[in-house]
Amino acid sequence: MKTQIINDEVSDTLLGEVFDKMTSAIIVLDKNGCIIRANDCAQEMFAQSLLGAKWSSVVKISFLANQGSQEHEATLYDGRKILVTTKPLSVGQLVVLTDVTITCKLKERISHMERLSSIGKMAASLAHQIRTPLSAAMLYASNLCNLTLDKVTRKGFGQKLVDRLEDLEKQVSDVLLFARAGDKIVEHVTIDEVIAKAKASSEALLKRYNARLDIRINKHNLIVIANMSALSGSIANLIVNALEAGANHLFIDVSLKGEQIVIKIADNGKGMPKQLISKIFEPFFTTKSNGTGLGLAVVQSVVSAHQGRLGLVSEENKGTCFSINLPLLKVALHEEPRMVA
Ligand code: ADP
Ligand code: MG
Repeated sequence: MKTQIINDEVSDTLLGEVFDKMTSAIIVLDKNGCIIRANDCAQEMFAQSLLGAKWSSVVKISFLANQGSQEHEATLYDGRKILVTTKPLSVGQLVVLTDVTITCKLKERISHMERLSSIGKMAASLAHQIRTPLSAAMLYASNLCNLTLDKVTRKGFGQKLVDRLEDLEKQVSDVLLFARAGDKIVEHVTIDEVIAKAKASSEALLKRYNARLDIRINKHNLIVIANMSALSGSIANLIVNALEAGANHLFIDVSLKGEQIVIKIADNGKGMPKQLISKIFEPFFTTKSNGTGLGLAVVQSVVSAHQGRLGLVSEENKGTCFSINLPLLKVALHEEPRMVA
């Protein structure tokens, strides 16, 4: 629909005024991508003078990463989050930039509150879950104190005590990881480092299950903004699940698709029937007698706190493949690729 113009003379000045006073930053580009007009708000948003500058160079200097789509959220170097929308004009282009920093902070706050509320629900169930291995551990410990028992029996009790304590440790670390899913996502880390850390922390378990982990990194030095321990912990969680599903061969594949990093974690374990797939991300859902049911809930909340997406394909008796898509910050330059595998 065309805008109706009542009086040509008034309308030109009025439109100019409206353009300047808009609360969103508006920039008009000519056919070569040079800025020919920018309103007051746009001038305030950038620390440089805009008129005559190439929009692509302003983007390069001012934004952390350019996602390049028609509508996307970008981050300025000072941390402000900006929603960038571009529309073609008959000649050139219109760029509208809206500061959504406050909205983003509110969203983060809401998801933090939601997490706190699920942690509350979790506490009751956790107390119950911890009680069983805890009472067993106490029983084994008291048997250990009985010096009349022979060495072999006491060693058996010692091992059982360690097993129960390991169960407890697993429950606690899953809950902590869940609680901290969105904490301090500020580190600039390469995916090589994330995978190396996940691999190092799973090494002992891989050995115990006599399983092999192959890693293929198709593009090295892809940098993401992350919480290193939460992200590598999530990948380690997927590795543990694969081993517990009977896999003896695991495969991690890292690739770059446009501005998205895709990390695939595949296994040759027992897979899952369709009806199970819809349930496994619910906190506390488990099919294992000693499971916490928190692993995948943690992975999902860590991935979404990283603005990522978690995908899954699974086939019964064949295996499972989880995929984590993360937004790329940039590719590190002048660095030799690091070998992980
Ligand atoms: P837990 O490991 O404590 O059971 P998770 O949230 O990590 O909790 O996993 C939930 C359920 O999803 C598991 O009990 C299992 O049935 C299923 N699952 C997860 N990963 C896999 C996998 N790689 N292969 C087959 N089943 C899996
Ligand atoms: Mg698990």
